[in-house]
Amino acid sequence: MLDYVSLEADLDAEERMIRDTAREFVDEKVRPDIADHYEAGTFPTDLIPELGELGFFAPNLEGYGLPNVSETAYGLLMQELEACDSGVRSMASVQGSLVMYPIHAYGSEAQKDEWLRDMGTGEAIGCFGLTEPEHGSNPSGMETAAEKDADGYVINGSKTWITNAPIADVAIIWARDRSADDEPVRGFLVETDRDGFSTNKLDDKLSLRASITGEIGLNDVRVPEENVLPGVEGMKGPLSCLTQARYGIAWGAVGAARDAFEQAREYALERDQFDGPIARFQLQQEKLAEMATQITTAQLLAYRLAELKERGDLRPQHVSMAKRNNVRMARDQARVAREMLGGNGITTDYSPMRHMANMETVYTYEGTHDIHTLILGQDLTGIAAFE
Ligand SMILES: Cc1cc2nc3c(=O)[nH]c(=O)nc-3n(C[C@H](O)[C@H](O)[C@H](O)COP(=O)(O)OP(=O)(O)OC[C@H]3O[C@@H](n4cnc5c(N)ncnc54)[C@H](O)[C@@H]3O)c2cc1C
Repeated sequence: MLDYVSLEADLDAEERMIRDTAREFVDEKVRPDIADHYEAGTFPTDLIPELGELGFFAPNLEGYGLPNVSETAYGLLMQELEACDSGVRSMASVQGSLVMYPIHAYGSEAQKDEWLRDMGTGEAIGCFGLTEPEHGSNPSGMETAAEKDADGYVINGSKTWITNAPIADVAIIWARDRSADDEPVRGFLVETDRDGFSTNKLDDKLSLRASITGEIGLNDVRVPEENVLPGVEGMKGPLSCLTQARYGIAWGAVGAARDAFEQAREYALERDQFDGPIARFQLQQEKLAEMATQITTAQLLAYRLAELKERGDLRPQHVSMAKRNNVRMARDQARVAREMLGGNGITTDYSPMRHMANMETVYTYEGTHDIHTLILGQDLTGIAAFE
């Protein structure tokens, strides 16, 4: 596997073990069928308990049976899952960073007791409902609203593009609390079997096909006050979760690019044209050299992020830079890898085109490339250019 500047040498035993466990699990259990799932538009849901058993959901959190591994170990896990398919990493990212993280950071003791163990083992599945049909890049414009009455809250609205929604037991729904001054955004834990909650699967995706994505309808859904996340108010709630998930994406995208690179290198060495392997042509070597360089520099950024996160110095803008750079890198390099595979490269027999198509989603979700550009622009100039 590409590790051009020997980053492996600095890993501790636990980090190596987690990386190797994830790599073996993916190779044995997921990779053999992933192209079929991609074509069918399905996710290998039967593997969710095993993902839980191996500790792949929020392993960087502490307590409630969670292993509290290093941020590097967590990043390496995301890298190995996405080296298989972005859909697999997305499932784990949503469960860990977008649902378990906010319950862990902002939930009541009762909420933590109710959900964190079961979600850690994969017995319960969660989803994160922020995006709405009319509010994607600007989620603060959300229309989904909660009104308080004597029994708790009544929620109305709709969410779309929600990963895991059709298979979730609980949804974190971000909604405006219309009963409070200034109508702050708050997080509501909504069990998906509540009256008025509906969801349907989006089937017409051409990207991230091995991932279950759905819409959510909320029609007078009643939840008790105990289901509100008590520890956070305002956009800080959902945005802080996104910072956690984007951290995992910055690592994961490197895995997808690395896998595409390895397939291209192997293919170039085996494929003969003009009486010898295509790897002997300078044009092909230039592509491999550039790919390896881009992947290596993205890896370095991911490792640095882990150091900053460990010591509490990571800013959301750092994560924006890494998500923006590493996903663009993976999107570009997967395309080059696909090109090196010639006609075979457009089939599901090889991973680069699947990664390339997946990267269209990863480039767009969790803040589009443009939005991260604006976040960096604001950080560098002090001037917001969003509106
Ligand atoms: C497969 C998939 C899974 C997803 N999973 C989830 C999930 O689990 N939970 C969830 O809440 N959401 C999820 N999303 C939604 C995702 O986060 C949104 O698609 C994303 O935020 C972009 O919103 P939008 O699609 O409405 O695009 P828009 O916001 O309409 O953007 C359209 C284009 O306009 C550009 N643009 C927007 N504003 C500006 C600006 N100010 N300046 C310059 N350009 C701008 C964008 O960059 C983009 O190119 C998912 C999306 C996909 C595709």
